Amino acid sequence: MPVPPDAARFAQCVVEFKSAALAADVSPAVVNGVLDQVQLSDRVLELDRKQPEFTQTFADYFNRRVTPERVTRGRWALAEHRALLEQIRVSTGVPPQYLVAFWGLETNFGSYLGNMAIPDSLATLACDPRRSRYFTGELISALKIIDAGDVAADDMTGSWAGAMGHVQFMPSAYLRFAVDFDGDGRRDLFHSTPDALASAGYFLNALGWKPGLRWGREVRLPEGFDFAPVASAQALPLAAWRELGVTDAFGHPLPAAPVLAVLRLPAGHRGPAFLTYDNFDVIMGWNRSVFYALAVGHLADRIAGAGRLQQPPPEDDLRFSTDQLIGIQSRLATLGYDPGEPDGRLGPATRAAVSRFQADQGLISDGHLDAEVVRRLEGTAAESD
Ligand code: CA
Repeated sequence: MPVPPDAARFAQCVVEFKSAALAADVSPAVVNGVLDQVQLSDRVLELDRKQPEFTQTFADYFNRRVTPERVTRGRWALAEHRALLEQIRVSTGVPPQYLVAFWGLETNFGSYLGNMAIPDSLATLACDPRRSRYFTGELISALKIIDAGDVAADDMTGSWAGAMGHVQFMPSAYLRFAVDFDGDGRRDLFHSTPDALASAGYFLNALGWKPGLRWGREVRLPEGFDFAPVASAQALPLAAWRELGVTDAFGHPLPAAPVLAVLRLPAGHRGPAFLTYDNFDVIMGWNRSVFYALAVGHLADRIAGAGRLQQPPPEDDLRFSTDQLIGIQSRLATLGYDPGEPDGRLGPATRAAVSRFQADQGLISDGHLDAEVVRRLEGTAAESD
């Protein structure tokens, strides 16, 4: 891990940021006005280096975000802003319930925007060698937003990592996709609900949102289902899933629409199953997390009137520490199931290795690391010792 900057290094960084910002055509008044005030934040460095102690299960993640209160508030927000949201749908193709779902997940409908000083956060992260290039770009974008008069430097607060406003845009997204939807001459994602929700719509539109298509849906798998396509995240036409016996969550036939879908089991075969479509990948373009995208999709459905998941996420799914996962990965590698570089993370290569191990053990090969897989891995360890 690279050494974090100290006060002397930070002062040097600020000089470098100033010339970079001037070269990027930010006005000298804003460059000096903002960068003369920025401070190194130890808190930001600490949060950036903090590793989660244990993996999160799908139930942990999902149940904390899709709560009955949030569904209720989302339905109220949908009703209250219906006319605005319909206008945004006309301009961007994104249906109202999705915009409200993002709003609810990002800031609980604007009730918590974050209170870290964004210029401090970004300057700190940009001076840290870890991800300096990315955050230097974000810092310069933030200066451009201030320069354009969209937000005053003192009002620019948000998350420790630089996301801001009602829909938590990073500065580069703000600069590229934010719109002045209420027509007051400023793109204000902090105080203007029309600007914030419309900007979310334009961002999703730019990421390739397909109007008229769902994000995906919860499905039910038939008895004796072959789980091979899960580990490889294969995209198949809905008609092919239908032939494999997959139905909607209530057991009704899937629509025969010409749509490609990927089967996802975020908590393994004991948990809910989902088929996800192209718009799911668009949501992943906003935040590269399958759990996040499933929460957005389901919350949008709920806000639009749908009921709970038919198959709730199992509460007893296992959590793993990084060390435990590295141990499991090493064990898989020793047994000839290459999980990639042992990194203590449950990535696609590890899931694929688990799936092959399960198949050879005569288990359901859903690629999900559950108690049975762990038990068998320990068992094979005992035999070979
Ligand atoms: Ca505005």
